[in-house]
Amino acid sequence: MKIDVLTLFPEMFQSPFEESIFKRATDNNLVRLEIHNFRDFAHDKHHAVDDSPYGGGAGMLLKPEPLFEAVEDVLREDPTPAPVILLSPQGRSFNQEVARELAKHERLIIICGHYEGFDERVREHLATDEISIGDFVLTGGELAAMVVIDAVSRLIPGVLGSGESSQDDSHSNGLLEHPHYTRPPVFRGWGIPDVLLSGNHAQINRWRRKESLRRTLKRRPDMFEKIPLSKADRKLVDEILAEENTQG
Ligand code: SAM
Repeated sequence: MKIDVLTLFPEMFQSPFEESIFKRATDNNLVRLEIHNFRDFAHDKHHAVDDSPYGGGAGMLLKPEPLFEAVEDVLREDPTPAPVILLSPQGRSFNQEVARELAKHERLIIICGHYEGFDERVREHLATDEISIGDFVLTGGELAAMVVIDAVSRLIPGVLGSGESSQDDSHSNGLLEHPHYTRPPVFRGWGIPDVLLSGNHAQINRWRRKESLRRTLKRRPDMFEKIPLSKADRKLVDEILAEENTQG
């Protein structure tokens, strides 16, 4: 996948993507990140990309010309079609489902806003998608872009190594992931569930499914309501409810 990012702060993208899984993905040509400074497309000698809002009010807005011209330029350089994604607290909420949807594209173009946001014509006539990473306001779209790029990249086939998998991750199948333990088996007097040391994989899988259901039920009842429960799941949920009632 190729990802073109339009930003006023290209340096911000350097170190986060030079580490770990993303670095391996770029080294293996599975992901190609191209960062473009849309200030290069400013028209005046001061390279201004912002201006005050019509009608008055606080703050500055990103002007339409540099953003339209920057997108047109990247598409001229490489005409591979791509959604043009505007990062904005007003967009549709980003989640694992949206990440999966974006991971299917051959290319993404991502626009990072700044100041008070964009001239509305960018939203209406340039962007084809608008994404928010949460109900809060960041200073700029760069951190949001990094979140989207990271979450999408790890879903691209081949990006995670053979020992790594996104399949059981929280939110991949509508559930939160079960707890994990590693060595030592007893740490400061705290042990681990016996079943994990049993070597019985059917029992281990049953325990994992049950703890995944328990965790989702307790922490995210909103998610739990939407899970299609199998007959076996229902039995596990009955056990969980009986255990929780006994405990208290
Ligand atoms: N005045 C804008 C509003 O109320 O919608 C907020 C502008 S914000 C200070 C500047 C930029 O940060 C936005 O244009 C957007 O690119 C980015 N941004 C802020 N919060 C975001 C969020 N929750 N998700 C994605 N991008 C966000």
